[in-house]
Amino acid sequence: MLNPADHRFVAELAAGLPDGTIRAPEPRYLEEPRGRWAGLGGCVALPRTTEEVAAIVRACHAARVGIVPWGGGTGLVGGQIMSEGPAPVILSLERMKAVRGVWADENVLIAEAGAKLADVRAAAEAAGRMFPLSLASEGTCSIGGNLATNAGGVNVLRWGNARDLCLGIEAVLADGSILAGLKRLRKDNTGYDLRNLLIGSEGTLGIITAASLRLVAPPPVTGAALMVVGGPAEALALLALAEGLAPGCVSAFELIHRNGPVFLSETMPDVRQPFADPPEWMVLVDLGLPHGLSAAEMLESLFEAGGEADLVSDGLIAQSESQRNDFWTLRETIPEANRLIGAISSHDVALPLSELPGFISEAGAALAAMGDFRINCFGHLGDGNLHYNVFPPKGASRRAFAGQANAVKELVHDLVHARGGSVSAEHGLGRAKTSDLTKYGDPARVAAMRALKAALDPVGILNPGAVLG
Ligand SMILES: Cc1cc2nc3c(=O)[nH]c(=O)nc-3n(C[C@H](O)[C@H](O)[C@H](O)COP(=O)(O)OP(=O)(O)OC[C@H]3O[C@@H](n4cnc5c(N)ncnc54)[C@H](O)[C@@H]3O)c2cc1C
Repeated sequence: MLNPADHRFVAELAAGLPDGTIRAPEPRYLEEPRGRWAGLGGCVALPRTTEEVAAIVRACHAARVGIVPWGGGTGLVGGQIMSEGPAPVILSLERMKAVRGVWADENVLIAEAGAKLADVRAAAEAAGRMFPLSLASEGTCSIGGNLATNAGGVNVLRWGNARDLCLGIEAVLADGSILAGLKRLRKDNTGYDLRNLLIGSEGTLGIITAASLRLVAPPPVTGAALMVVGGPAEALALLALAEGLAPGCVSAFELIHRNGPVFLSETMPDVRQPFADPPEWMVLVDLGLPHGLSAAEMLESLFEAGGEADLVSDGLIAQSESQRNDFWTLRETIPEANRLIGAISSHDVALPLSELPGFISEAGAALAAMGDFRINCFGHLGDGNLHYNVFPPKGASRRAFAGQANAVKELVHDLVHARGGSVSAEHGLGRAKTSDLTKYGDPARVAAMRALKAALDPVGILNPGAVLG
């Protein structure tokens, strides 16, 4: 049983830390991007050093007070928001934002957990390197949050997700001990891999305070195209063609349904739309090539091969970096348009690639039988990851459909599970999907997860209620 972070506890905690470290939580710590849950917090702690994080954790451990780690607050499954239970300490890493070092020749960068993803990417670029993790929320989300959720984004196809880009982690464990794991090594087989245990643990096994990250050489030649495809099956066949033409050079391959651009024209008419009448399905292909090759020529070849195979009917190849940016702006603003329209239920699912077309048609038909919904299905096709979001009909509010939200979610998740998929591809379980773990999770795996949690956090102070419920 945990205790609340009440006035007495907060005063004692503040007394042991530099002035200004402990504050009353401002509203931004108690809100989340889709406005679905409101958070609780006895105080917000804003440490500047790993030792201060350790002192806060030790105090919470001794007093049995819960801690909700907070990075940038962009998580989409309620992991950074605790709505029920004894008020926790919200532990924000935002002041720990230094890039501690860049080793360009080693392709390594060490950043503190509160560093914004965009700032880490900029620091890598300044050193002539690239940190390939790329999400639409990069201006707000933190490296600590990215690792805690094992974030994905648009470049997983080529460079992997946050886990694949992390070489080492410094973290504070539930008893306040500091795990000093900031290695810059590619190989280190010295026992259990605690780094990989902490990545994706959503703040339930430790507080990530810094990480050593893998950089890559940026591709010298880049280019992008939007290609109109017959449907998801044709899109997958086009991906196979692209990988055959430019092996290892397809940096992103994003599926976009017509409702993405339609929602943008309804909510954000200033976003430039490449097609006056958006096609039913298109893909955004992004290439990064070696010196001496032409991205436009490569995309032209793909367009021709796709046309000959009856996969592609129309398309636009970016003629400049600014047009390539326009294509990406279209893709990256779709989540904001979705937010403004207001989904009844949003799903971040992964499927084996060959199951994607069948899932999309089956789920569409089943939802049409249930009600008059608009579906915006888009995402990282190359990774088998769809954002499959269900909306009310045009002009209606999601509130009117609140009673159906659970049934919609179950229908979608059941279909995903039946096809060997995952009900959380890249966002995590947070507090929104804990019941899905019980429902769909392999019992032996769930039992092992509970045993790990009990061993590393026996009092249960770290992000209570997240992941395991
Ligand atoms: C517009 C938009 C687009 C997005 N696009 C993508 C996308 O393409 N791919 C993707 O994967 N996600 C995406 N997301 C989701 C979100 O940005 C990611 O989950 C991100 O990694 C969260 O980082 P954060 O710093 O905001 O974490 P928060 O939201 O603050 O926290 C997320 C979780 O991590 C825990 N946590 C945070 N910091 C730490 C830490 N230092 N130590 C331990 N635990 C911690 C929190 O307790 C919580 O459980 C998107 C979100 C938005 C709003």
